[in-house]
Amino acid sequence: MNYKNTLEFALELDANDELQHYRNEFHIPLQKNGEEHIYLCGNSLGLQAKRTAVFINQELADWATFGVEGHFHAKNPWMPYHEFLTESYSKIVGAKQSEVIAMNTLTVNLHLMMVSFYQPTEKRHKIIIEADAFPSDIYAVESQIKYHGYSVEDSLIKLTPRGGESAIRTEDIEAIIEREGDEIALIILGGVNYYTGQVFDFETITKLGQDKGIVVGFDLAHAAGNVKLDLHNWEVDFAVWCSYKYLNSGPGSVAAAFVHEKHHHSNLPRFAGWWGHNKEDRFEMPDEFSPIKSAEGWQLSNPSILSLAAIRASLSVFDEVGMDKLVRKSKQLTDYLLFLLDSIETDRIEIITPKERGCQISIRVKNGNKELFDKITEKGVIADWRDPDVIRVAPVPLYNSFSDVFNFYNILKTVL
Ligand SMILES: *Cc1c(COP(=O)(O)O)cnc(C)c1O
Repeated sequence: MNYKNTLEFALELDANDELQHYRNEFHIPLQKNGEEHIYLCGNSLGLQAKRTAVFINQELADWATFGVEGHFHAKNPWMPYHEFLTESYSKIVGAKQSEVIAMNTLTVNLHLMMVSFYQPTEKRHKIIIEADAFPSDIYAVESQIKYHGYSVEDSLIKLTPRGGESAIRTEDIEAIIEREGDEIALIILGGVNYYTGQVFDFETITKLGQDKGIVVGFDLAHAAGNVKLDLHNWEVDFAVWCSYKYLNSGPGSVAAAFVHEKHHHSNLPRFAGWWGHNKEDRFEMPDEFSPIKSAEGWQLSNPSILSLAAIRASLSVFDEVGMDKLVRKSKQLTDYLLFLLDSIETDRIEIITPKERGCQISIRVKNGNKELFDKITEKGVIADWRDPDVIRVAPVPLYNSFSDVFNFYNILKTVL
């Protein structure tokens, strides 16, 4: 398409956007002057769908009406409440319903998955992760390595891009697997890297790893609800994600996990809790733990229903729209953004997001000059700054418009 850098053109794109009306389904934060912020931070905290209150109020009302009996008598009984999320989640990550479970929080789930899927031996004890992975993931893998009595120095392989490049090449991952594969126990990558916005080649990396006997898992914090996923068919061993970024379910909301069905009947070690026990006799509180033969078997506790209600509200929007339409608009939004940024004559910014991307664009600022970011913030943009030198912006297809993208560009250009 021939793009133009005018507001009229952006408004024309909005008028032709089949998802345009979904913006009204969300609360857009307001500036002090009463105007809407240009909110480009859905990669960090997604906005609240207006229907969220309806879903949560239902559970508050049923709690008031039924007390403990709400577990069975609520309109949406709390006992099986997490099961109301599985169909929607299975569509978002491309899984069978038995392979997904909403539980705990993200870093907790990453640890639980490593308890099952990281079984280091003297010969095979290494973990591969991106050098610029989200810090929590680095802390988690390092602590697992130490917990098993190995050293981070010997057992952690951190992937870095080649000099002068910002994305990691699949062929470089392949070379490491080729060279050290027999010593590698686990590959754990952010499906979409939180810093650069790079989308990894899930299928190829999974195959390369598994061919060498390596377990392959992904942290989908920045991928779930952002890019098309097909975890089951890609044969990914496990995955974890949170629900408050692109999945718009509120700060600290319950996270989720995927365990491929090939592992459901295995005897993998795991940390157990009553909610993962067979549903038939869970309430008879038997002495011996007998796990549910699905991803549900990894649950520990009964989940926060108020949080699951918020997730359910959000997933109902994803059900209506579907990932295909979202991804199509996402591509158009970022194409337009890149076109606009490219038209600015400056050497002070550089795009580090590769063409394999979701809706996040990472803009490197020369000399890490954060003043630029502070100034666009003053003018009503909500984006985020990541040290040492990156502004991340994520036009989210559900609630961002082409005019948001244009207005952001216009502000950035003025400030530059
Ligand atoms: C957002 C994010 C987290 C946050 O972890 P919580 O346990 O939800 O606090 C962890 N890892 C990645 C890759 C993230 O993007």
